[in-house]
Amino acid sequence: MLTRPPAANSLVELDRRHLVHPVSSFRGHEARGVRLLTSGQGATVTESEGRQLIDGFAGLWCVNAGYGQESVVEAAARQMRQLPYATGYFDLGTEAPIRLAAALAERAPGDLDHVYFTLGGSDAVDSTIRFIRYYWHARGMPGRDQFISVASGYHGSTSMGAGLTALPLFHDGFGVPHDWQHRIASHDLYRNPNGADPAAVIAASVAELRAKVAEIGKDRVAAFYVEPIQGSGGVLVPPPGWIAALRAVCAELGILFVADEVITGFGRTGPLFACEDESIVPDLMTVAKGLTSGYAPMGAVLMSDHVYQTIADFAGAKAVGHGFTYSAHPVSAAVALEVLSLYEGGLLENGRVMGDRLQSGLRGLMDHPLVGDVRGRGMLAAVELVTDKAAKTPLPAELGAATRLFDRAWDQGLIVRAFPQGVFGYAPPLCCTAEEIDQIVARTRKVLDLTLDDPEIRAVL
Ligand code: PMP
Repeated sequence: MLTRPPAANSLVELDRRHLVHPVSSFRGHEARGVRLLTSGQGATVTESEGRQLIDGFAGLWCVNAGYGQESVVEAAARQMRQLPYATGYFDLGTEAPIRLAAALAERAPGDLDHVYFTLGGSDAVDSTIRFIRYYWHARGMPGRDQFISVASGYHGSTSMGAGLTALPLFHDGFGVPHDWQHRIASHDLYRNPNGADPAAVIAASVAELRAKVAEIGKDRVAAFYVEPIQGSGGVLVPPPGWIAALRAVCAELGILFVADEVITGFGRTGPLFACEDESIVPDLMTVAKGLTSGYAPMGAVLMSDHVYQTIADFAGAKAVGHGFTYSAHPVSAAVALEVLSLYEGGLLENGRVMGDRLQSGLRGLMDHPLVGDVRGRGMLAAVELVTDKAAKTPLPAELGAATRLFDRAWDQGLIVRAFPQGVFGYAPPLCCTAEEIDQIVARTRKVLDLTLDDPEIRAVL
C-alpha cells in the first residue's frame, strides 16, 4: 500500500499559506490545494501518493528531453563544481555560454548569428522590444515605436511583453500600456470568420497586416511578432504558407519580423526550429523552454547580423544598457549544450516519429461526439471539445471546463493542458515511447467518454 509521505499534508498547508502560484486563481488554488509531484523519469512523473502519470504536456511545454536524463544532471554538477557563476559584464565570460551561442548560431536559420541569453521566454521577448527600439533609434527612426502581434498570441508576462500577449487575462486590471501595441486577427482555421480555406486565410491576414501598417503610419511600425504555432491561445496552427507570406510583407514594408519560438523550438514540431518548416529567416527569434528542457532556467534572443551590426555601430564605445545578473548563466548553458546533444543524438528523430503517431492517434478521436477539432504538428497538438459539432458550440464556460477536464485526465493518469475554452493541449516529451503515445490517446478517449456521461454536459447536448 502506498502512503502519502508524512510531510505531504503540511506541505499542502504551507503552499496554501505562502506560495503564490503563476497564472492561477489564488482563491481557487487555496480551495483545491497543491498536487505534489515528487519525481520524474522519461515521460512519467510520480505524485506524492505514488501514482504515476504520463506527462503529456512536458511540464509547461518545456521538458522536451524528458525527465531523469543523467548526462544533463552531470553536466550541471560539473559546471557547478568548476565555476557556478561568472558574469558577462566587464568583458568576462566562460566556455559553456560561448559554445552554446556558437552552436545555436550554427543551427539557426540564415544569419541569426548573435545570441543574447536571458532567464526564460518572457524576458527574451522583453529584450527584443528593447533591442528593437534601440535598433530604430540607431537608424535615426525613433518614431518607429509601434508593435504588431496576432490575436490570441502569447509572448510572456513582463510589463512590456504582456502587451504583445493578446489574451485579455494578461491585460485586464494590470494597466498594461496600450499606446504601442496593435494586433491582426488570428489565423485560427477552426473558427475563422474567413472560413478554413488556407488561401483565403492567408490573403486576409496579409491584407490586414498591410491595412494595419497603413493605419498606424508606415514610418511608425517597428516590428511584427508571430508564434510559428500559437501555443497558449489554444495550439492554433497557421495554414502552410501563412508565415512565409507575412514574413515577405514585413520585408517589403521594412518592418522587423520576430519569430517567437519559445514553444516551437527544439524539436517540438519536428525540426530544431519551426521556422525551418516554412524556410523563413526572421530578423530576430526568441527561444527558451526546450533550450534547457526545463533542467535550468534559460532563454535567448537570436539576432540577425544586420540588427546586431546596426546596434553595435551606433553604440560604438558606449555600453548597450541591457543586461541581467544571470544573462548567459554557465550552469544553464552547460545544461543546454548537453540537452542539444541529446536532441541531435536521437531525440529529434524519435520526436518526429512519435509526433506522427500522436497526430494520427488524436485525429482518430474525431469520431467522438464531443470532439470538434484536432490540430497540431509533431509533438504539439490540441483537441477541441464542443457540444454541437455543426454549430461548433464550446463547452459551457460556467461548468469550469478547464478544471473538470484537467481533473478527469489526472484521475486517468494523464497530465494535459486544459484550456478554459474546453481545449486539451498536448506537448509530450520527445522521448515518449509508442506505448506512451498510445496511452495518451487512449486516456484522452476515456476522459471524453466520462465527460459525455457528465449530467451537466448531457443537459446541454
Ligand atoms: N513566448 C511564448 C510563445 C510562450 O509560449 C511563452 C511561455 N509559455 C513565453 C513567451 C514566455 O516564456 P516564459 O514563461 O519562459 O517566461
